[in-house]
Amino acid sequence: KEARMDASKIEGVAKIGIECKKDADFPKWYKQVLTRSEMLDYYDVSGCYILRPWAYRIWQEIQKYIDHEIEELGVENSYFPMFIPAKNLEKEKEHIEGFAAEVAWVTKAGNNNLHEPLAIRPTSETAMYPYYAEWVRSHRDLPLRLNQWCSVVRWEFKNPQPFIRNREFLWQEGHTAFATKAEADLEVQQILETYRQVYEDLLAVPVIKGVKSDKEKFAGGLYTTSLEGYIPTTGRGIQAATSHSLGQNFAKMFGISFEDPRGPLDGEVRPALFAWQNSWGFSTRSLGIMVMVHGDDKGLVLPPRVAAVQVVIIPCGLNAKASDEDRLSVEQSVANVLIQLKKAGVRAKVDDRDNYSAGYKFNHWELRGVPVRLELGPKDVKNHQIMAARRDNGAKTTLHQATLVSEVRDLLETIQRDMFNRAREIRDANIVFIEEWKDFVPVLDKKQLCLIPWCETSDCEDEIKEKSSRSGLAATEVQDEKAPSMGAKSLCIPMEQPVHKKLIKGETKCVSCGKDARRWALFGRSY
Ligand code: AMP
Ligand code: ZN
Repeated sequence: KEARMDASKIEGVAKIGIECKKDADFPKWYKQVLTRSEMLDYYDVSGCYILRPWAYRIWQEIQKYIDHEIEELGVENSYFPMFIPAKNLEKEKEHIEGFAAEVAWVTKAGNNNLHEPLAIRPTSETAMYPYYAEWVRSHRDLPLRLNQWCSVVRWEFKNPQPFIRNREFLWQEGHTAFATKAEADLEVQQILETYRQVYEDLLAVPVIKGVKSDKEKFAGGLYTTSLEGYIPTTGRGIQAATSHSLGQNFAKMFGISFEDPRGPLDGEVRPALFAWQNSWGFSTRSLGIMVMVHGDDKGLVLPPRVAAVQVVIIPCGLNAKASDEDRLSVEQSVANVLIQLKKAGVRAKVDDRDNYSAGYKFNHWELRGVPVRLELGPKDVKNHQIMAARRDNGAKTTLHQATLVSEVRDLLETIQRDMFNRAREIRDANIVFIEEWKDFVPVLDKKQLCLIPWCETSDCEDEIKEKSSRSGLAATEVQDEKAPSMGAKSLCIPMEQPVHKKLIKGETKCVSCGKDARRWALFGRSY
């Protein structure tokens, strides 16, 4: 309590805190949380950002997890150059059409124009596959499964947003080739499941697995699976990661083929077979989604599993009048707690800066989202106890010195679980079944997502976008002046289709166009 009181007296507290509420001005809130928590800083090139250690450490936790999982699957890490010769980039027509507008080119070296301009990779299919074609000769060279951790450049013209939409961003991209479609299809699912685990188990962010519509699938691919997240404050969906089946399309363009293992038939050589390929990517967008979902008016709220510091220990109750004896006993006790926690693998840190009050430190670590704060004062030492405060819900509990380690571990797990469950409840409460078009736009305007019986045609998707954007609304349909004017697009066709709501093939009609509905599809305004 003592420490709490002096917190309000300190100058400068407001400066290190967040000056606006998450609900009141979300873009400003987001920017302040990221910069003031020291996750990220703005850079002199628009759409490019500096990842500071507080964010990079989380990215490394994600890397560790993904690397471990894909290694189990037999994927190896490697590295390809960032420059792609124009002739390679342009080999797959649909692919280049999908990316052309965003490709950045190097055209000059010093004062000289390059003989052949070089693209900076927006994704590496066309950098890698010419070499896959050389390396794959027989079915024994398959599967070929490579991953790389790198940055890619997409010169997007939509409003850039830190983590969410960058011009340069960090990701991993996996590129694999198989002899059979069945093996490739299996991997698409395995990777999507790994990505789900990163979001749900590490970042405590609920996601929906689904298949993309034809309009939204990867340029040049066969089909795209994705994870879709939801940002409650804006009511928008967000593509969280993708795992693409490329089919044999790229293999045909780049000549990734192998001899038919069945050998000649009636003395005739069988034609070579083309490999079945996948590509899959997970980017630093995930950090932005995590911040948007969990952050609050005090700043970041980090899930324990990825936080650089899981527990901060703050010596308390030592004002100027404290006795040397009290000071010493607190110091020793704090040091002891730190050692115990570290030994147990808990990422703990002591804030023993003596030029700041305890209250100032509370604010400092709350802003940075540290999951648990331990407070230790002279009285606590005498009573063999320690105060713990949760960042996610502010709850305080008294822990016992003797069982401290297991209690802290339990607390971290509880926080991780509670954060996920809370986010999932909110997400679930904001997905609305729509069975008549009249309900569609009002639901979007309430910052919710729509689940509709859908015909799955591209024309219908275009029409839905048009009808749900401001310009497409009839004057009487305009519900809310402040609602975003952006139209809705299909986020995905969820792999897990609703079971308690019936969609009868040949009977249930598409909510928008009235043709036969094929499956339930998730629509929303999106990032
Ligand atoms: P894609 O190769 O387009 O399937 O991208 C793979 C994943 O990277 C997407 O699912 C997004 O989550 C993420 N991503 C795409 N574009 C950006 C961007 N401009 N900034 C950050 N992440 C991105
Ligand atoms: Zn339709």
